[in-house]
Amino acid sequence: METSVRFSKNYLMINGSKFVPFIKYREIRSKVKEIARQIQIDYKGKIPVFVVVLNGGIFFATELMKHLSIPLRVETLKAKSYGNEMYTSGKVQLFLTCDDLEGRDLIIVEDIIDTGLTMKTIISELQKYKPNSIEIATLLLKRSNLKTDLQVKYCGFEIPNKFVIGFGLDYAEFGRNLKGIYILE
Ligand code: 5GP
Repeated sequence: METSVRFSKNYLMINGSKFVPFIKYREIRSKVKEIARQIQIDYKGKIPVFVVVLNGGIFFATELMKHLSIPLRVETLKAKSYGNEMYTSGKVQLFLTCDDLEGRDLIIVEDIIDTGLTMKTIISELQKYKPNSIEIATLLLKRSNLKTDLQVKYCGFEIPNKFVIGFGLDYAEFGRNLKGIYILE
């Protein structure tokens, strides 16, 4: 199906769904800076491995790493649980491209945690590599929708249980490159 997109001054219509501005880039930038400051302190003297969850996590990861001066390694993994719909399919497919993680301190960088099931799967896959530690950094967290017990060490914003796009997050492949975050009205 071809995606239909209509821009207006105060909203975006995608395939008939209306999205309104929610978090400005200015707010994202300053929150990400804060998280970077904390990571800088927590990982002093270590060389953490940032495991960036593709595709959405690259936007958050790039913004985060701009503000870090500690040495670090970057790896990526792809997790798929959504098609063009706005609900969790419950199935998560993982395409992991990193190895050599034994004894390393991992920080998983994700754009959003909704039910937490994707993150749970990612953690149990990464544990097979016997890392020294695994922490989670997510830009957005729908805490009220969590269906699993997750310790999220670095979180940008806790948001309501509504579908959002922008800053890495798409709907039907649209919206990833929006500078701010938009929410379904
Ligand atoms: P979970 O397994 O935590 O339910 O879902 C995680 C994945 O679902 C995220 O990595 C993201 O790809 C997708 N997702 C969850 N909520 C949203 C949302 O509000 N907007 C978009 N675009 N994707 C979402």
